[in-house]
Amino acid sequence: MRIDLHAHTTASDGADSPTELVGHALAAGVDVLGLSDHDTTSGWDEARTACAGTGLTIVPAIELSCQVISPGAPPRSVHLLGYLPNPLHPSLKTETDKIRAHRDHRLQQMVKKIAVDFDITWEEVAAHIPPGATAGRPHIAHILIEKGYFLDTTQAFEGPLRGDGPYHVPHYAPRLEKGLEIITQAGGVPILAHPYTGQRSSAVDHQQDRDGIRADYAALVEQGLSGLEIYHRENTEQGKKVLAWVARELNLIVTGSSDFHGTKKPNALGENLTDETQFHRILDAATGAVPLR
Ligand code: AMP
Ligand code: ZN
Ligand code: FE
Ligand code: FE
Repeated sequence: MRIDLHAHTTASDGADSPTELVGHALAAGVDVLGLSDHDTTSGWDEARTACAGTGLTIVPAIELSCQVISPGAPPRSVHLLGYLPNPLHPSLKTETDKIRAHRDHRLQQMVKKIAVDFDITWEEVAAHIPPGATAGRPHIAHILIEKGYFLDTTQAFEGPLRGDGPYHVPHYAPRLEKGLEIITQAGGVPILAHPYTGQRSSAVDHQQDRDGIRADYAALVEQGLSGLEIYHRENTEQGKKVLAWVARELNLIVTGSSDFHGTKKPNALGENLTDETQFHRILDAATGAVPLR
């Protein structure tokens, strides 16, 4: 069984509709695919119809934007995967509606700043964001690429879309603690996405000694964390070793995924996979939704 538990569609910043994603997954020989758009479950319905009778199983999920706030340091953005939550659960719905509303507003502010130096309007950006989808910087990238300013999303992220650049505007995200509570309350299984990369901020300070690292992950487990996405191209090799040790120590679920975004990122479907045993631990723990097949 080829199980890839993290992929995006046009419901957030992926290039493919849920129907197109199902086609790509089948072509890539994937048997089980996690549909994990940022801050929305709006792709689930189309995915349900698209995978029916194809042999592909979709694991409906979400990648919730969260932040970690430590005293004396800027907020750190982290991504929390929630597998099989009830999409209608009031706290999940309210919170994701709030994040998306703030993201819309924030993206408009970014476009306004970028428009001083580039030929771009909010109307152009908004025109290709489907209803219910999560607006993100890749939507601005799309227009900048279309207008010939950049060759691809990665290049646009090295330019005006960079997080530490003059055009960047942050958006609201719940604290990780709250994210864990929301996913758990909705019957989902919370798993930290790409927890140990060289580039992105992380939930836990990995500069500490092993005891410190274990203690910080143990605190997240107390708050509901169930697993770690260890096999992801952005985790460092040393990071994967440390995370595998943490997972053994704390008996955490371990996943592997592509984080596929279609043409918007080089990640290929099935490039990292999850063991069947680990997938079954997710299925056993989830009470909010069932896989689509
Ligand atoms: P936002 O959520 O609007 O702040 O945009 C960040 C999202 O854009 C991330 O979740 C990624 O999926 C995507 N992204 C970030 N960096 C890059 C990059 N260098 N190339 C392509 N996509 C990126
Ligand atoms: Zn993304
Ligand atoms: Fe992510
Ligand atoms: Fe992702």
